[in-house]
Amino acid sequence: MGYDSFGLPAENAAIDEGVNPEEWTNLNIDIVRNQLKRIGLSYDWTREIHSHDPNYFKWDQWFFLKMFEKDLAYREDSYINWCPQCATVLANEQVQGGHCWRCNSEVEQKFLTQWFLKIRSYAEELLNGLNNVDWPEKVKVMQRNWIGRSEGSIIKFPIVGEERTIDIFTTRADTLYGVTFMVFAPEHPWVREWVKGTEYEKDFEIFYTDVMKQNKFERTDVEVDKKGMFIGKYAINPMTKEKVPIYIGNFIIYEYGAGA
Ligand SMILES: [Zn+2]
Repeated sequence: MGYDSFGLPAENAAIDEGVNPEEWTNLNIDIVRNQLKRIGLSYDWTREIHSHDPNYFKWDQWFFLKMFEKDLAYREDSYINWCPQCATVLANEQVQGGHCWRCNSEVEQKFLTQWFLKIRSYAEELLNGLNNVDWPEKVKVMQRNWIGRSEGSIIKFPIVGEERTIDIFTTRADTLYGVTFMVFAPEHPWVREWVKGTEYEKDFEIFYTDVMKQNKFERTDVEVDKKGMFIGKYAINPMTKEKVPIYIGNFIIYEYGAGA
């Protein structure tokens, strides 16, 4: 039996109660353990673990350091779901209809420097491993989509009037001739730079605020209406050398691939 008892939720609860987080957490675990015993569960109670126990989390730290040494843990700026009330980051699954699952506050998108694990380095292994597990096909499909394809090409699209390129991963480089427009995630940091001081700025702010109310699952759901807006900027199709207009769209997510 184990308790996922470490972190901000426990800390916030302790602040509300005005007690030491360790005492508060241990007290609650005692209550839960008693309840589990009273409903007759026969776990091996000598093998109980608590994720707030230093004897347990020293191994989390050990794993993290090993990954850091191997360059598999790194820092990068990215948008995250943020609950201002809980003062904590939320996973996509913890955002329900744009609200925090714990306190129902409206969830904000915050641009923060965060730690990432380079799971992409294991994409091939993870994909192959799915062939060896006895999971429902539906779950395997979800996992495959989440891991993403590991073989393909990165195509560099020059941006008109700039040195930098937007580098798009594709498994279908043969369709490049057909590219006639490009769509960026509204939260892509370049977009805000581009519209600043232009006639598109005001409409962009309205569009952006609107999209941020949807969570990432809603935004990519096929059932949800696709919305887009031209932002007055162009990229170059590297095959045809033609100018292609850049739009922003609610169905493009910044953290997925290049965010465009
Ligand atoms: Zn909250």
